[in-house]
Amino acid sequence: LPRLPIFEAIKKHDSKSTAVVHGLSGRTFTYGELVNDVAAAKDKLQRNAGGKSTAGERISFLVENGYDYVVTLLSILASHAIAVPLCTTFPAHELRYIIDQSESLMLLSSEKFQSKADEILKEGLETNPINYKQEKIMMGKTDDYVTLEDPTSPKGGMMLYTSGTTNRPKGVLLPQEVLTAQSQSLLKAWDYSSKDVLLHVLPLHHIHGTVNALLTPLFAGSTIEFQFPFNATAVWERLAAPFLPNPDPAKKPITFLTVVPTIYTRLLASHPSLSPEFQAATKTALSPSNMRLNISGSAALPTPVKAAWTELSNGNVLLERYGMTEVGMALSCGLSFADRVDGSVGWPLPMVQVRLMDTETNALIKEGEEIDPSTGRERHGEIQLRGPTIFREYWKNPEATAKEFVDDPDGQGKWFKTGDVAIRRNVPLAGQNSAQQDWASGPLYFIQGRKSADIIKTGGEKVSALEIEREMLSLAPVAECAVVGLPSEAWGQKVAVVVVLSESGKTAGKGGKPWSALDMRRALKEILANYKIPQEMKVVETIPRNAMGKINKKALVKEIWGEPV
Ligand code: ATP
Ligand code: MG
Repeated sequence: LPRLPIFEAIKKHDSKSTAVVHGLSGRTFTYGELVNDVAAAKDKLQRNAGGKSTAGERISFLVENGYDYVVTLLSILASHAIAVPLCTTFPAHELRYIIDQSESLMLLSSEKFQSKADEILKEGLETNPINYKQEKIMMGKTDDYVTLEDPTSPKGGMMLYTSGTTNRPKGVLLPQEVLTAQSQSLLKAWDYSSKDVLLHVLPLHHIHGTVNALLTPLFAGSTIEFQFPFNATAVWERLAAPFLPNPDPAKKPITFLTVVPTIYTRLLASHPSLSPEFQAATKTALSPSNMRLNISGSAALPTPVKAAWTELSNGNVLLERYGMTEVGMALSCGLSFADRVDGSVGWPLPMVQVRLMDTETNALIKEGEEIDPSTGRERHGEIQLRGPTIFREYWKNPEATAKEFVDDPDGQGKWFKTGDVAIRRNVPLAGQNSAQQDWASGPLYFIQGRKSADIIKTGGEKVSALEIEREMLSLAPVAECAVVGLPSEAWGQKVAVVVVLSESGKTAGKGGKPWSALDMRRALKEILANYKIPQEMKVVETIPRNAMGKINKKALVKEIWGEPV
């Protein structure tokens, strides 16, 4: 694959094929139009830079999901600048933090967000970005394609802020060559093509929405259809559309969906309320012969959700993968259904080097050494990564950057410490899968969670919160749960769980009472070792999650028990 920056890559696609579809209006934009509009937007952007070079400068932008977002992002990349996409739903004061922290040269806003941009720029800024409002991003056509002066070493890239699950969001600098490498790795693994039509329902300021669901399909010449904010009924209606009587030929079948587990949960929950006609059409839409790939990531995929999706879709098994802002995607299950083992995130993706370092001894866990001979238990290792897909630095935070990278005496570069813990296991795959991809072989990885919040040490044993959550979610009374460690004098830490009861859970206890801690322990005795069973259970109405469906466990513990983890 040629290592082109994205803007150079899209010029090579068939100019008549559809690049972007607006979900609401149904308006379509071809690759030819996209290239022209990006060229024009780039010129306009440079004219508005007040005579300054944009190379390497941060440009923040506040643009709704859709064609204008794509044009803005690509024009910033084509200007060799660093694109900082802002979350359109954040309040102004939070966006101000990002604009200040990134020292943005400019703030671009679409018409819709001009008043928010004005509010952000009103006061209290350390930097003083140029307020450049793009009244309309499409500004008539130019016929000349702009060429980057030196397309092989563009200075630009993207700066994405982490989800802020464990702390304040950190600015992650992803140079253009890193973005290209991340996309190439995914192109190889997931086989995006110009035939794919991807339904995009994610926010566009996180790696999942930008790299997996936008840049990579653009590299492949796929069609991206925006529908935002996520609405389960609207998604079902769109998926069903091509399979209802007298379909609109402009609505092509969706072949590709990549979202977070909570979105699959919400889709599944809303499916029974569809009319029988829609239910039948959505089932056809999801079946493997129409829907090529359904991917889940950003948080652990509950096994019951995966099973329910398989059932609903006539056998379309969700593909789970693992990644983070700093590294793009790192581990993934394969294209063959047999490769998608429950609870596993698969193998190291192409171009990604992965090693596991024992969380106790910090020794490398070599292949074949996955079991600790003294305890007979599987060894927990921190996932460490290196290769061309890995970020280089946290923006203006050399301390954090230095802390998270470790040297390797082999001289082949530093490893990034993800802070996530995994075990590795040899699993015989059901049947030899025909589509076995060369990178998808060897022992499988199973994420155990974040070292800081999900690995609980109780009575000398290490317990994975994610493993217990997975098991608890398979019980009928549990709708949602979060497993945490609480300080304990006797055990060091004790396992506790916060539960949202399902409808049946509200009467699942003795004498029709709500399911209790005692009922829970009884039910878990069958499926979990004693030391893994939560000693405490709190029932709540909802568990707070951020936009990516993640739980801040420190905050949760503080809210419920008033104690730090
Ligand atoms: P912050 O770094 O600001 O605390 P964050 O780590 O949630 O926030 P992201 O970079 O968006 O920000 O998320 C990456 C994290 O998401 C990973 O480090 C991992 O803990 C979790 N994650 C991603 N995919 C999976 C998965 N398939 N299973 C379990 N956890 C996952
Ligand atoms: Mg993180």
